[in-house]
Amino acid sequence: MNILFASETEKAEFWLPLLSRALPADKIFSEVQGSIDVALVATPPPGTLEKLEGVKLIQSLWMGVEKLLADPHLPKGVPIARLIDPGMVAAMSETVLGHVLDWHRHVYRYRAYQAEVKWRRHKQYLASDRTVGILGLGELGGDAARKLLALGFNVAGFSRRPKTLEDVKCFTDLEAMLPGVDALVCLLPLTAQTKGILNARTLGLLKKHACLINVARGGHLVIGDLLKLLDSGHLAHAYLDVFESEPLPADSPLWRHPGVTITPHSAALTEPRTAIARVVENIERVRRGETPLHLVDFAAGY
Ligand code: NDP
Repeated sequence: MNILFASETEKAEFWLPLLSRALPADKIFSEVQGSIDVALVATPPPGTLEKLEGVKLIQSLWMGVEKLLADPHLPKGVPIARLIDPGMVAAMSETVLGHVLDWHRHVYRYRAYQAEVKWRRHKQYLASDRTVGILGLGELGGDAARKLLALGFNVAGFSRRPKTLEDVKCFTDLEAMLPGVDALVCLLPLTAQTKGILNARTLGLLKKHACLINVARGGHLVIGDLLKLLDSGHLAHAYLDVFESEPLPADSPLWRHPGVTITPHSAALTEPRTAIARVVENIERVRRGETPLHLVDFAAGY
């Protein structure tokens, strides 16, 4: 089969040797030449998608596919598979746990006090005193939920369809969940339904001194609303990894706000060493004429 690797963000020097080793009988291309059977893409170079005539599968090299779905050159009727990379899932849970613990143990405050040479101690809470609310109980939200439970936190979660996850209080009504939440983690896909979901109304329903961890997409958050809630003291801190415009512009007020911790869309990166097996599994499925795993539901938008 002819396999295309096309990405301006994923590194060819990592992927191409792994692909050649795993698929010795296939031809691997880094630009479209002739007919391609499977295209592996993450921000493909301009002009790539429109040349993919007859492609049997577009395999995303990212877990989030909203940019790909919005691309006007996406060939119609071709299945798209999301990447479910165990290394990336683990990385995301580490990031979520890191931020939850930073807030729970007041480390973000102590960091600020150190800059002022100030010795001040805050009240200690047990993990079981806190409820972490997770928006999105999919591959990422589900793993983070299990690991937070293992640390002793109460966990609530929000999904589109009703869900049962052991020891997680599951909601499909967001406004019913938020008043019980101390730390809110956003792990939703960006769709027409979830755009702007972190706004004055929803964040205002959180418990006082709650923290927000947005590791999903910048479009979920209304920045002006967040800043007002931080300035009023309703929210204690926000950990933001993703922004509508990336890199975050130097003149954004978020950079210098004392209530905000910024990371450069680094919460979880695709890890080729663990992702390769999942990509190869889907290529083999195409070869055998089977349905690939983790296909995007175009109607739901994720
Ligand atoms: P999944 O598709 O596995 O899970 C998505 C979850 O969100 C599901 O539980 C789904 O509900 C829920 N959901 C979707 N739409 C709605 C809605 N309208 N209302 C309520 N719940 C909804 O996605 P992943 O866990 O794999 O990834 C989530 C997102 O994380 C990605 O789309 C991406 O944007 C982001 N991401 C960020 C990274 C970073 O480095 N910052 C890295 C990787 C991903 P249901 O269970 O009913 O389908």
